[in-house]
Amino acid sequence: MKTLPKNGVKQVLIVGGGTAGWLTACFLAKQLGVGAEGAVQVTLVESKEIGIIGVGEGTFPSIRGTLATIGIDEARFIRECNGTFKQGIRFNDWVREPGAPGADHYFHPFSLPSQRPGGPELLPYWLQGAAGKEVGFAAAATMQKRVADASHAPKRASDADFMGPLNYAYHFDAGKFAALLSTHAQSLGVKHVQATVERVALDEDGAIGAVHTKEAGVLTADLYIDCTGFRAALIGEALGTSFHNINDVLFVDRALAMQVPYDRPDAPIASYTIASAHEAGWTWDIGLHERRGIGYVYSSRHTDDARAEQVLRNYIGKQADGLNPRQLKLNVGYREQHWVKNCVAVGLSGGFLEPLESSGIGLIETAAYLVSYLFPHDGDFAPVAKTFNEMMKARYERIVDFVKLHYCLTQRKDNQFWIDNADMASVPQSLQDKLAMWRQRAPHRMDFVVDYEMYPPSSWQYVLYGMEYQTGLYANAKTLPRMEEARHEFAMIQQMSQRALADLPSHRAMVEHLARRG
Ligand code: FAD
Repeated sequence: MKTLPKNGVKQVLIVGGGTAGWLTACFLAKQLGVGAEGAVQVTLVESKEIGIIGVGEGTFPSIRGTLATIGIDEARFIRECNGTFKQGIRFNDWVREPGAPGADHYFHPFSLPSQRPGGPELLPYWLQGAAGKEVGFAAAATMQKRVADASHAPKRASDADFMGPLNYAYHFDAGKFAALLSTHAQSLGVKHVQATVERVALDEDGAIGAVHTKEAGVLTADLYIDCTGFRAALIGEALGTSFHNINDVLFVDRALAMQVPYDRPDAPIASYTIASAHEAGWTWDIGLHERRGIGYVYSSRHTDDARAEQVLRNYIGKQADGLNPRQLKLNVGYREQHWVKNCVAVGLSGGFLEPLESSGIGLIETAAYLVSYLFPHDGDFAPVAKTFNEMMKARYERIVDFVKLHYCLTQRKDNQFWIDNADMASVPQSLQDKLAMWRQRAPHRMDFVVDYEMYPPSSWQYVLYGMEYQTGLYANAKTLPRMEEARHEFAMIQQMSQRALADLPSHRAMVEHLARRG
């Protein structure tokens, strides 16, 4: 058995300076008091030549807690990262093909369904028609859809940082975010080395012994954090940790991305990501302060690159003229183990599930939080690694189910991509089991182990019923005795939405207010 480092873990080396590397550096610096005498020293080495992936512009509301924890205020974040507010995701054409009769979109808002203390839980009553036949669950149970549809912000100028009447996350420029995190981490005492790692040496126990760089010689540490993106230079290339490919469940494996200008400087900014389904995948459309980020993620088994580019150009229209997309190949899946011996993978080196629900940065937040809070000061990595690996694997598995939920309930038959997605052979058993339960009752928080989930039960409810899943309630009018009360609640939510529209500023006005704030 390996002897523990004599003085415990004193040196951490983070390899890679994208969102994963710098966010982990910030968490560690804050949690471990880096920079103080005798504290753990954190160094981040990144390659200038290789650069970062530069996509990943949508987040989940957990990002607000992350920014507050690491000490970046909201105005600075909005100003320096071209940031805007994200109140959810609008899914166009996921249920049925364009032009087919029925709703052409649904919404996954971040605000929870309204629940007055002592009031009825609204979902079963919505299923029984208490909000009216045509009103989707998100529109009936929260104010957020109306607010976001009207391009209003989720908060007012008078609201405190990271607070507001509606739940929200952000959209931002990935390159600018990494730059902000880098400046911030260095101000907290993290050392920065610019060098390309050419070789990773193992020690006699098969753990990481050293990294050999082109420009800065040999670097050693007690704990290594692999944030080298899809390359996975330490956890994959050096340690050979196996990768669980899930392309048979989640089919998209290519992306084309473009940065598109607004057609006029005062154009309204969408306050949600627009995810539009197409013949072999879907486009994301993200409104930043000064531009839009638009991309098409697609399955290379169901289309070819030339056709995919045409689909993207058709979606964007003439704004795409003269612009060239960047193409990315995606490794879809995750490591069986994220923490092996003295090496932890954070970010794309640990895994990647397609960007539909912005799980990438959410998983980085979880991993960075866990590494810093479980930090193995005495160098005994095994127990911490066990907890970390269990937690990350469970999260990945549940996110796979959640993302697949968006696809497998489609009624689209216009393309093999959608037909294959609805084939139950491609649906994990764990998701099939959930769907079986929800055939006769709505999803309940007891169906979920909170610490293993990235998405709250309401997210599952919004997507499930957005996709028009049919839950034949065991209950009927007799077992739902608060029907009148529920009808009244739904009516109140509509009235409150009207007031919220008057009260909340336009999204662009709120972003510009924060961007101007010193
Ligand atoms: P990278 O950004 O690739 O950084 C890798 C770092 O390692 C770089 O600094 C590089 O220079 C360095 N490096 C690599 N090799 C070496 C070496 N040999 N020596 C030294 N340094 C090295 N996530 C979301 O949450 N929301 C989204 O909307 C979203 N959209 C996405 C869309 C697409 C198409 C893709 C592919 C991903 C998306 N993601 C999204 C995921 C998100 O982009 C990533 O999780 C995030 O950017 C973190 O990347 P990273 O830091 O792990 O890797």
